[in-house]
Amino acid sequence: MFHRQSGLKQFAACPRQWYYEHVREVGKDLSGSLTVLGTVWHYAVEVYENYGYDLDLAIRTFTYYWDHPELIPPYYQGIDFWHRRTTHKSLLARGIKMLKMYHELRPWQEGRLIGSEINFEVPLGRHTLTGSIDKLWYRPGYQALEVLDFKTGSYVPQKLKYNVQFTAYCYATERENFWENIPGYEDGFERFKGWRRGVVWYHARNSKMFNAGYRTDQDYKRLLLQADEMERSIEAEIFPLDYSGETCGFCSFVEICGDEVADPRTLVEIT
Ligand code: SF4
Repeated sequence: MFHRQSGLKQFAACPRQWYYEHVREVGKDLSGSLTVLGTVWHYAVEVYENYGYDLDLAIRTFTYYWDHPELIPPYYQGIDFWHRRTTHKSLLARGIKMLKMYHELRPWQEGRLIGSEINFEVPLGRHTLTGSIDKLWYRPGYQALEVLDFKTGSYVPQKLKYNVQFTAYCYATERENFWENIPGYEDGFERFKGWRRGVVWYHARNSKMFNAGYRTDQDYKRLLLQADEMERSIEAEIFPLDYSGETCGFCSFVEICGDEVADPRTLVEIT
């Protein structure tokens, strides 16, 4: 089965949401202004990393694509709705401020950039795992590859050590075909064999780094188990709802969620 890393993440957050989008296809999850801000900001950072850490160029890139987000591949994603207390002007200012703060983090420039926005497609047991890494780099003197994941929202999660999304990124870098299309690092599989794989969560709004730890074979076993269990759930057509409700506040299916059982007789019997 094909597993996109973002699909694993969505399924883990709420299998029902995955079902509405991928099985019933009742419309894609809509893109809010904050999501699109993240897409445009990522794109501006990619330009920044690949064209000499030119802050002015990054700001101009951000400013242009903030007006035209639908031009950014592969999502070509416009803004479907505006989150409360966000405007075009306020998010433009926020994006530029985040770029300036990122630029001030000199340590990035002392490391070796392997690539940014790296798309991958690697085997995972009987599955295929796909996804995209924001930035992969290493620091001379340390035998460790680090994945940098940019987050532009306000949310900072706990227990990043067990974050499966990050495990998926690290796992991908351990597969031989991951390196095939990375210019200058086609020998990366052999070259970085035995190096540790770690992740840093970069919280762009506050310019803070959160160490998400290193991954081991035990983490990779959990990743494979998640892919297997997701496949079994889909085959059995079991798609539980998010019991905590934490995902619902960001879900565009909230108006239809549960309609499948909205049989008035059932509701009468319940009451
Ligand atoms: S409203 Fe909540 S439970 Fe329903 S699909 Fe969306 S996230 Fe899942």
